[in-house]
Amino acid sequence: MFLRHPLFSSRGIEHGFGTRSDSSEGKDAFSFRQVHGSNVREAEAGAVQEPRPEADGGWTSVPRRAVAVWTADCVPVLFSDPEGVFVAAVHAGWRGTVRGILPEAVRSLVVVSGRNTSDFLAVIGPSIKSCCYPVGEEVWSEVRQSWPLWSARTGSSALDLPDLIRHQLEGEGFRTGQIGEISLCTVCHPELFFSHRGMGEKRAGRSMLNYIRRKG
Ligand SMILES: [Zn+2]
Repeated sequence: MFLRHPLFSSRGIEHGFGTRSDSSEGKDAFSFRQVHGSNVREAEAGAVQEPRPEADGGWTSVPRRAVAVWTADCVPVLFSDPEGVFVAAVHAGWRGTVRGILPEAVRSLVVVSGRNTSDFLAVIGPSIKSCCYPVGEEVWSEVRQSWPLWSARTGSSALDLPDLIRHQLEGEGFRTGQIGEISLCTVCHPELFFSHRGMGEKRAGRSMLNYIRRKG
């Protein structure tokens, strides 16, 4: 089963946020070797070379090509223009988020498409949320240093990554109507999701596919 968001579905843009139930859907999507960095690269057409290049975000404008990221608590963010011509998938854990992978993805899309930020839509998928994500001073010190305005107004020991991502997208010029969110916590819903924090060893490395496909 995949979760969908109306921001894309209403425009006929094929996408899905994965759950625990297996499916062949989206398995042809291109994914990079994720390293919790802030690199966003083009998912080139043609055969995938192994080992895959490292990146935590990929974009494509090749007809019918799909890009994907794998998550199990980290935040998947999918992007598209309203016509489904330039699409991107981003994997954002706390490190990648603090290092600015979302602004990086937005800037890449703007450069390659020649469009404006106002032409893009973003959907934030299910992830670990502040209800289940207390983090220590070593994380907060990095967050405060890189995102002082957001840190000043949150003032909590729990990290709300989706909210920080929303703040970053707004900083790049996204307006409220351009940002969608599937507001489910992957730890609170073990019946639906694999969770790194919630399941520990029992997860056995399993994670969920999140993908978006360029229109044909
Ligand atoms: Zn939770």
